[in-house]
Amino acid sequence: MTELQDRYGREFHYLRLSITDACNFKCQYCLPDGYQRSGKSRFLSVDEVGRVIRAFATVGTRKIRITGGEPTLRKDFDQVIELAANTPGIDTVATTTNGYRLPENAHRWRQLGLSQINVSLDSLDEKLFRQITGDGRQQKVLDGIEAALDADYHKVKINVVLLNELNAHQLPNFLEYIRHRPVDIRFIELMETGLGQEYFQRHHVSGMVIKQQLLAQGWTEDPRGPVDGPAQNFSHPDYQGRIGLIMPYAKDFCATCNRLRVSAIGKLHLCLFTECGVELRDLLGHDDHQAALVARLHQQLKQKTETHQLHQGLTGVTQHLASIGG
Ligand code: SAM
Repeated sequence: MTELQDRYGREFHYLRLSITDACNFKCQYCLPDGYQRSGKSRFLSVDEVGRVIRAFATVGTRKIRITGGEPTLRKDFDQVIELAANTPGIDTVATTTNGYRLPENAHRWRQLGLSQINVSLDSLDEKLFRQITGDGRQQKVLDGIEAALDADYHKVKINVVLLNELNAHQLPNFLEYIRHRPVDIRFIELMETGLGQEYFQRHHVSGMVIKQQLLAQGWTEDPRGPVDGPAQNFSHPDYQGRIGLIMPYAKDFCATCNRLRVSAIGKLHLCLFTECGVELRDLLGHDDHQAALVARLHQQLKQKTETHQLHQGLTGVTQHLASIGG
């Protein structure tokens, strides 16, 4: 079967699959008022998730990231991991989580086939963590990271959304944290979403600020692998962990795009910031539709644009990243 490729020669081996929009945290840059359930939304069933993964695996997807909302809120999260891990062609099953369920579950999820974990942790300072996330369970998240390290995941990463006036000055604390821990910390530039410009203008700061500090302190940039995410990674011989920078506003950010997204209601998003998703759900109800599903993926890939239009302030339909598996 031909692998997915777009008009610009980019290949897509990485799928970010959202399995729920629901989240129990209230991160101020994402869901400041908390998750509001919309009566109509029915998230993908495990069978539908299986069909999405099988179709993508047929056309060259090797890595699946299970995301949300908060994916671990799903009662059948274990089944989703197993399904992804047992799909021929898939060699990496990752998840992005706020980490609150990790302490009790990290070992079991590892045994079921989860191999990489990204935990969101916007500050090591307890008060600031509470202020940014609207949640007081920082200790659970920290314990969860230790549990993941103990359970021998291939990679444990921490996602930090870089926020001017809040955590942007806390690089020294994060560096100290990874001196003796094999954890990668990834600073993600704040992206403008449908939440509006005010928060963005106040808190957005370029990842270049961190890059300059790293280079000045002897950190060096690592080469990029074919299924790597969008981060520029940096290492230093005195530190066990690495630092990654995700800078969607940087020149050429989209040139290395290798990922597609499917939302929790079964829409294909060719870019995080497209105007609308492409319906897949009509082809997810039955195994007989797999060939048609694959054909639709190939056809849609031809529509993928060269770059996002964030610089023009066009944030697409993305009201917040929880609705599309950020
Ligand atoms: N609930 C999970 C979590 O907390 O990691 C997964 C979903 S969350 C939407 C995925 C990632 O997107 C998190 O690391 C979060 O910090 C990041 N994110 C959300 N909104 C963002 C924004 N406006 N700009 C940059 N990153 C954002």
